[in-house]
Formats: sequence, structure tokens, C-alpha cells
Amino acid sequence: MDDLREQVELFESSANLATSISQVQKAIDLLTAARAKIAADAKTAPLTLAKLQDPFKKTLDAAQKDLKPIYAGLNKYGKALDRKFKDKPLPSAENDALSSHPSLINRAIAMHLLREGQFGVASTFVEEANRHPPHPEPTLNTPNPYLRESWEKDLAEGTFNSEKLQQQFAQMYHILHQLRIERNLKPAIQWARERSDILEARGSNLEFELCRLQFVCLFVGHGQPDDIMNEEENASGPLHAWKYARRIFGDFQNRYARDIQQLMGAMAYWENVEDSPYQRYFYNDSAWEEVAQSFNREFCSLLGLSADSPLFIAATAGAIALPYLLKLQTIMKEKRTEWTTQHELPVEIPLPSQYHFHSIFVCPVSKEQTTDTNPPMMMPCGHVIAQESLDKLSKGARFKCPYCPTESHPRDARKVVL
Ligand SMILES: [Zn+2]
Repeated sequence: MDDLREQVELFESSANLATSISQVQKAIDLLTAARAKIAADAKTAPLTLAKLQDPFKKTLDAAQKDLKPIYAGLNKYGKALDRKFKDKPLPSAENDALSSHPSLINRAIAMHLLREGQFGVASTFVEEANRHPPHPEPTLNTPNPYLRESWEKDLAEGTFNSEKLQQQFAQMYHILHQLRIERNLKPAIQWARERSDILEARGSNLEFELCRLQFVCLFVGHGQPDDIMNEEENASGPLHAWKYARRIFGDFQNRYARDIQQLMGAMAYWENVEDSPYQRYFYNDSAWEEVAQSFNREFCSLLGLSADSPLFIAATAGAIALPYLLKLQTIMKEKRTEWTTQHELPVEIPLPSQYHFHSIFVCPVSKEQTTDTNPPMMMPCGHVIAQESLDKLSKGARFKCPYCPTESHPRDARKVVL
């Protein structure tokens, strides 16, 4: 992947459209000036046009010449792509589950663009998708895709008409920009304060984390005043940090007594915090990024969304899984076997831990992963097997647990929710 990235960087530095654009702008300016001149005095038209010809041609030629490295760069990049991905066909569409739900795919793309803050692109995409509604194709599991379930319809159309969602994400990006670029905690603190109760009910530490960072900023002297109500804080330094702490930390005393004590303890070292045991609170380079991520996560979960775009996660997990699935396909072809389980992958995909969202349960009797229709069931002895295994073993009457001597009745088994 690195060589591809290198190519892109090279391309961006050597061949950008800046000169071409300025040449085209020059041409437009020449034309506009000529039009104004002729409009003012029609008699000058032949002369003005004659004079225009030469410089106009020159600017267009220059624009063409500037385009050359762009074509060369594109060519090179195309070749690099071919080298990178040669002889790697995509898996065949036998297990296609997407073609029957194009409106959901469009929704995922629109949501992704909104979540990435690409509002202009998102609205163009939504507009074009509405103008040319996609045509679902039948697939193995959805032989009749035209009978869309109502939830699918609502979901797809709901997003496309949602101005509100865009406004919410615009607010999120504004606050993130203030945190990451401007190093300004004010809008984030205000946002968190307005939702203090909900955040606390969720067990979130966001509001305290933000206020703690504000305290640290005031303490080390890069602080911006927290709010206009209190003019004393138009300055910073340990004394101002202390005043801030007295005013703000009272509300946090119950939940964060220990953290607050430590911050207060640091006051004793105000002259040389850098050499004190409290150094890590005050000189932590990642603190800003941490609160930004924390804010991002809380903001999205209050909207009922995950912190990362699901489309991004799905595409990344897919890219990791692809080589394994390709290999599997080759092996299956050689051995002439088929992939029969539809809700389960036939091989294990080593996804990184942050991509593990749910616990899974594999029945120790049937060795199958449990599903909604075949859930894990716990017998009174505490052993757990899948519903189907339970039905097979018990046949509706008292039976002995396959793992211990206890006997029980299937009606005493309880469904386990993971
Ligand atoms: Zn048992």
C-alpha cells in the first residue's frame, strides 16, 4: 500500500491544477473584458475581437500544457494500481446480499458522507439518488426485492429527507474543530453542560474531562477564559486555575473526588509542576485528542449512532476478510464443496479487537454458532447449549445434561441473551 500512497503524494505535489485554473481564469477575464468593451461601443467589435484572438489562444495553450503532467501522473498511478492488484479477481457474486437492497446501500453512503462532514457531497449524492432511484436485483435471500419491507423504506427515505441530521453533524464538526484546531474548550463544555443529566445517566465522564482540561490549560497558562460571566478568568496561571476549580469542581465532587484531590494537590507544586508527580496531568500531548474522541463518541451515541461510520467499518473489515474468502473460494472449488451456512462465515477472520462488537456463542454439542432463531439455552445446572441441541437431546421430556449428571426438563431451561 505504501508505494501507492507514495504515488499519490508525488502526484499531488507535481501535478495539481492550480496553474491550469489560473490560465482558464485569465481566458475568462479576457472574454469578459472584451464583452464589456463591445457592449459599451458596438463599433469597436471587429477590432476588439481581432486583438483578443492572440492572447486568448496563448492562455488556452498554456492551460493545455499544464494539463500534460496531470495526464502523465494519472497514467503512472493507473500502472501502479495495476501492478498492486494484478491477478486478484474479486470473489464471484454467488453470495451477493447487497444488490437487492440498493436504497439501503445509498442510505449508508449518504450517512457516511454526512458523518464525515462532507455536507455538499452528501446533498448532491442524495439529490442524484432521488432523481435516479436505484433498481433492486433479486438475490439468493431476497428473491423478490421489489416488495420492500416497511422498515427498509422508512429507513432509506428518512435519511434522505433529514436536514436535521445534517445540522446536528454540522454542530459536531464545529465543536470538534474548536477542540482540535483552535484548542478552545468552550463550545464543548457548553454542549456537555446542557446535557449534563443524560451524560451522567450514561456514566459518561465527558463533562469532567473537559473541565479538567480547562483547569490544566489555565494552570499552565495557555488557558482561554471559560465564560464571559466571570471576567477574572480573562487571565490564566495557577491562581486563576484555582478560582476556576472552586467555581466548577463543586458539582463534580461526588463522582470525581479523587481526581479533584489530585489536581488540587498539584497546586502545591505550582512552581515546578514539570518535575512533580503530577506532571502527567499537565503535560499530556494526547489530552486534546482524547477529549475530542470522547466528545465525538458521546455526541454520536446521543444521536443513537456509533462513533465510527458503519460504512467505514464494514469496508475495512471486508478488506481484511477478502484475502481469506478468496483463498477459501479456491479451496472449495478444488475440493468441490459448498458454503452452506448462510449466517456464518466458514472461516475465522482475524479482525482487530476494536472490530469485535458482539460476543458469540458456539454450541458445544452441535458446534454451531447460535442465532436469533436458535438461541443459547441455560439448563438449571448452569450448562449452556443451543436450543436445537436441547430439543434433540430432550425430545420434550426430562433429560440428562451432556456435561454433568444433573437431570432437568427442557421447560426449565432459560434463554441466554449475549
Ligand atoms: Zn450440566
